[in-house]
Amino acid sequence: MSGKLAVGLDLGGTQARVALVRDGRVVRRTAERTDVAGGPAAVLAQFDRMIRGVCSREERVALVSVGVSAPGPLDTDTGTVLHIPTLPGWEDFPLREVLGRELGLPVTVENDGIAAVYGEWKFGAGRGLRHMVFVTVSTGVGGGAVVDGNLLHGRRGMAAHMGHFRMAPDGPQCSCGATACFEAFAAGTALARRAREASRSSEGFLSKVAGERQVETRDVVAGAREGDEICIFLLAQEADYLGQGFTGLIHLFSPECVVMGGGVSNAFDLMSERIHAVIRRDAMQPFKEVPVVLAELGDNAGLVGAAALSLEQNQRN
Ligand SMILES: [Zn+2]
Repeated sequence: MSGKLAVGLDLGGTQARVALVRDGRVVRRTAERTDVAGGPAAVLAQFDRMIRGVCSREERVALVSVGVSAPGPLDTDTGTVLHIPTLPGWEDFPLREVLGRELGLPVTVENDGIAAVYGEWKFGAGRGLRHMVFVTVSTGVGGGAVVDGNLLHGRRGMAAHMGHFRMAPDGPQCSCGATACFEAFAAGTALARRAREASRSSEGFLSKVAGERQVETRDVVAGAREGDEICIFLLAQEADYLGQGFTGLIHLFSPECVVMGGGVSNAFDLMSERIHAVIRRDAMQPFKEVPVVLAELGDNAGLVGAAALSLEQNQRN
């Protein structure tokens, strides 16, 4: 434990978040709605303001480095944003260079799934493991992998975009433009879509919600907790998709465990048994007992991971 101070930035399509991090713990954090229309200049000004918001003057001076977690694909070798579907105007933006110059600090840029797996590996559910996979299931499906005690980066730092392996020859439309990706079946967005369809064709918890407002993923979880049959069915179906996707990841990476985070993991206790049953059914014999566990850092994983990675890289250089 170094006690060194770093800042983690999370560049999301909805929220921009900033945390002051020491020894893997969030000291202070803040968030604002991302100024999408303002483009890079406006968002970098937001980050600058938020960093001053979470740091005292002394802490700002003591900052060693800044780590950015962003949805990809990003080229983390050059620190350049390639394309973020939810953030127009950022194509080929040299984020690391510009932010480093503006803040006067070393900056590292990481794909959000890789930043989050690093956070969970060093400070969360994966502590002490040599092989793990982290999967975040929320609006999309993302993640990262640690193999042989190393964070997997791949060509241009874009490895383990695990939401986009194909589960079937054809199926629902995916955010990436293809169809039938793991994400297209298992993301919270997909679960919410199935829930809206169910709310129109049946009586019960969801149709009551639909009478007042749009049905969301959290309504399925709430309904299942109240014993609503349709919600229970929808979560069982979701658990099947997750179990099938996780089985693929277990075969690919041979992790000691799969760590699940993201908004949909709020229903992990309701789905865990079925997820494990699917893995036991579908995985090859030596993989059947690989456990899936709940992430520990919640939505701090990416912030903590990005900050810690920036410190580590800064130490190496
Ligand atoms: Zn896809």
